[in-house]
Amino acid sequence: MQNLEQSDHSEFYDQEEYRDSIATVDSEGKRIWIYPKQQDGYFYRLRTYLSWFLLAFLFGMPWIKVGGEPLLLFNVLERRFIIFGVYFAPQDFHLFVLAMISFVIFVALFTVVFGRLFCGWVCPQTIFMEMVFRKIEYWIEGSAAAQKRLNNGPWTSEKIRKKLLKQGIFFLIAVLVANTFLAYIIGIDEVIRIVTEPISLHLGGFIAMLLFSAVFYFVFSWLREQVCIAICPYGRMQSVLLDQDSITVAYDFKRGEPRKRIKKGQPQGDAGDCIDCGMCVRVCPTGIDIRNGIQLECVNCTACIDACDEIMEKVKRPKGLIRYDSYNGILSGKRNLYNKRAIAYSSILVVLLVIQAVLFTTRGKVECLFLRTPGMLYQETPEGLIQNLYNYQIVNKTGDSLPLRFQLKDGKGEIRLVGAAPVAAGNTVTEGALFILFEKEMLRPGKNRLVIQVYNESELIEEVETNFFAPGR
Ligand code: SF4
Ligand code: SF4
Repeated sequence: MQNLEQSDHSEFYDQEEYRDSIATVDSEGKRIWIYPKQQDGYFYRLRTYLSWFLLAFLFGMPWIKVGGEPLLLFNVLERRFIIFGVYFAPQDFHLFVLAMISFVIFVALFTVVFGRLFCGWVCPQTIFMEMVFRKIEYWIEGSAAAQKRLNNGPWTSEKIRKKLLKQGIFFLIAVLVANTFLAYIIGIDEVIRIVTEPISLHLGGFIAMLLFSAVFYFVFSWLREQVCIAICPYGRMQSVLLDQDSITVAYDFKRGEPRKRIKKGQPQGDAGDCIDCGMCVRVCPTGIDIRNGIQLECVNCTACIDACDEIMEKVKRPKGLIRYDSYNGILSGKRNLYNKRAIAYSSILVVLLVIQAVLFTTRGKVECLFLRTPGMLYQETPEGLIQNLYNYQIVNKTGDSLPLRFQLKDGKGEIRLVGAAPVAAGNTVTEGALFILFEKEMLRPGKNRLVIQVYNESELIEEVETNFFAPGR
């Protein structure tokens, strides 16, 4: 966007008052409510089909289980993460950090090449706003003009009925969305328990559900495009990520300017293809005029492309006056997707992905930790043995329950379990305690190193080094 200002078409961008304010705020700082005209067209239909798939994925995924475990779970409270059936424990935090860094690099790379494509096609905010809530609004309150009339009109019984119906449906959907997001965190079984059992048994969960619902309801019934314009951090990053080669929803100013309204019987002269009908502005859910150039508020929803294509068809001019293109593409007809920045981001991304793949494929299926119980040195048993108490933690990253057996590597000494023999349940962390005992003569005073072997039946699955503390002689 900053690059357009320096272009050799600067005469076109000379009038840049539009940058002094945003389309949704008036001169007194009050919110201007946007009533975008409902638009149909090629891109809108494609986005509708994609939104069906994404919504089915979002709402369906928590119900899908493999081996009794959800396919996706992000339980930050209990630190249990399952991604497409693969369990990640807190011990895999380094993988999570690397995955987050890779994701940020991927987003940067994607934005450098394809602009804000993500926002228009897959962002949950846009999908819910444009494909769910907005459609319900058109269905209940009618067209954009009818909605405006209704809002500006007096509170008649019809207005009250429509508003109650719309807000009621909005709230029910917000509850559904909130429960679904909660299911990704605590699992669908827990959500069902919260919904079906008395509130007093799940007060915390019930409050979380209410808060989530209230937030979603507020976002989609009132905040709306302000999320994309003023809150979303990804939107804020556009000005540093986009360059003249980034593909965005763009107006072909070379072809469109000078814009001129069509008037019957009047020659068009040297006018461009834009007939200044304003349709691209009327359909925009963020209220901007894409003819001013790329703007921070544009969520790449493609509504202006469809609207303009429809107009071009009517006036018998080629479609694509507004289209996916880069600034350089419009200016010179040449697109350059693999520029230096894209190559640099791609290289870093490939390196990160390779590191992650290696770390992921070489990570153990079971991780064991044995630590001497804090605050306890050693004890002498009635048989004259020296014993240390240990706490153990077994992270089982497989979906199967594993009966475990512990053994000291050098064969000397003895392990006595506190409680039953450990069985590490699948995709979870099992904790317990045990004593290790040695004859006094076998030990050096102070710290002694020892190795505990962990077996699943006859298979040695891990060796863990730890310390044994012995008294002085
Ligand atoms: S819809 Fe197309 S023709 Fe109409 S004002 Fe926008 S760019 Fe110009
Ligand atoms: S300018 Fe076009 S693509 Fe961007 S938000 Fe408005 S209608 Fe959507």
